[in-house]
Amino acid sequence: MPIVIIGGGPGGYVAGIRAGQLGLSAIVIDDQPLGGTCLNVGCIPSKALIHAAEEFAVAGEQATDGRFGITVAEPRIDLAATMAWKDGIVGRLNRGVGGLLRKAGTEVVSGRARLVDGKTVDVAVSDGSTERITADHIVLATGSAPVELASLPFGGRIISSTGALSLTEVPDRLAVVGGGYIGLELGMAFANLGASVTVVEAEDRILPLYDRELVGPVAAALENLGVTVLTDALATEATDGGLLVSPRSADAEGNGGSTEIPADNILVTVGRTPAMDGLGLDELGLTRDGPFVAIDERCRTSMRNVWAIGDLTGEPMLAHRAMKQGEVVAEVIAGQASVFDPAAIPAVVFTDPEIVSVGLSPDDARSAGLEVIVGRFPLQANGRAMTLSPTGLDGDAGLIRAVANADDHLIVGLQAVGTSVAELSAAFGLALEMGARLEDVADTIHTHPTVGEGFAESVAATLGHPLHI
Ligand code: FAD
Ligand code: NAD
Repeated sequence: MPIVIIGGGPGGYVAGIRAGQLGLSAIVIDDQPLGGTCLNVGCIPSKALIHAAEEFAVAGEQATDGRFGITVAEPRIDLAATMAWKDGIVGRLNRGVGGLLRKAGTEVVSGRARLVDGKTVDVAVSDGSTERITADHIVLATGSAPVELASLPFGGRIISSTGALSLTEVPDRLAVVGGGYIGLELGMAFANLGASVTVVEAEDRILPLYDRELVGPVAAALENLGVTVLTDALATEATDGGLLVSPRSADAEGNGGSTEIPADNILVTVGRTPAMDGLGLDELGLTRDGPFVAIDERCRTSMRNVWAIGDLTGEPMLAHRAMKQGEVVAEVIAGQASVFDPAAIPAVVFTDPEIVSVGLSPDDARSAGLEVIVGRFPLQANGRAMTLSPTGLDGDAGLIRAVANADDHLIVGLQAVGTSVAELSAAFGLALEMGARLEDVADTIHTHPTVGEGFAESVAATLGHPLHI
């Protein structure tokens, strides 16, 4: 009997490919195009839009200030054409995922799956019939869905990230509820496209998962772009042409003052929740971890031969975590000794400047009881960073930071904020996974001129002997 994988997102399709490579018979079930949230309405389309928006903003600057010595006529944006370009990329990748599964010998069934028991799945297919599939193993990879606020239900001008990624006109005024990953990435993209953007964040600062040193340059870039950021603020209801916002300290009746922000669209990005609707999970009575399906380091749920991976299983809800779990689960089912036990899961915020973080921040490390040394290298001293002028900031903003044990110099965290620092996540992740010490990185020749040289310099700074500051 085959392995049935429910969900064809980064977790599910990777599990399908790896299972096929290992000679296992596997079926991936999804009623949406392959690639899941990430490929269809998440990582890829958002990064396409962000890139196009940055190009547009640079062209706008060239029209007014001749940036890089280049002068262009005032640029115009045809958002429908931008979205068509983005959809072309998504379509190519959808077909690519289908091809990879075919190459691995893994079958794809298009339909909505419902669990009958721990070995049986009913699939509602498009002609209205139901196909019953019996499996030796079931892998749950149904991902996540956007959190909806009761006071701001999705529909019409109140949109989720999916709605924002299919707009065909740039809204004049966009209110973004939630200053986390999506709110800031897409909020900044629409600001670059010319929208007047207001971000409403409940906490006392944007990107509350990241420390102030990393978030500072992003906050400065938002200010430069003219984005209004309201913190300690709650969006309470949509009005005809706007959104009512109250201070978080306001009482239930709204006393404490409420203001109206003008808004053509309201983009609600207050987190994501595991996707279980209609899946029949309750039938199985699996142990939960809060709202998520609880798993161990081999992606086992509380029921034998029922496995779960990806966003359904908790934070961080990132595509590369789901993919690695997809590989691990297929290998474990194939009898290999694989475990999902990463030294760290890299995370990147694709704002401009970008933030990358792998492992522990200095505060996290100290809270964990570690005695650490911390070094910083400002990107204003990095030649390559200066040559890459971002839209909102010049090459003089941003830094690379290293955190290491004071005694044995084992690196426990690496972070950066700046232009094009997302690509450093590979080197940072490798350093942590390989158990690198500061001296290992300091002794590695880094290519000149690259932003990555700043990595070696941040490590040299931690050792007390940076060369270029
Ligand atoms: P999903 O990708 O959500 O896939 C689940 C699949 O299961 C879906 O295709 C769904 O149709 C299917 N499914 C659900 N229920 C059923 C059922 N009953 N029957 C059949 N099929 C079912 N992460 C990053 O790492 N980097 C980024 O830059 C990034 N950007 C993002 C931007 C946005 C706007 C959003 C919304 C998310 C972003 N993410 C990013 C998060 C990333 O998309 C998720 O972490 C990732 O997609 C999770 O993969 P998954 O396989 O667990 O689930
Ligand atoms: P998020 O958790 O990143 O941010 C949500 C923000 O909304 C938080 O700052 C929170 O304090 C705020 N908030 C919550 N309730 C609120 C309310 N009622 N009013 C105002 N603010 C409120 O969530 P997201 O931006 O929706 O993204 C969801 C997930 O998708 C992320 O956690 C991440 O795992 C993934 N993602 C990753 C990337 C990336 O890797 N670059 C990009 C986009 C999304």
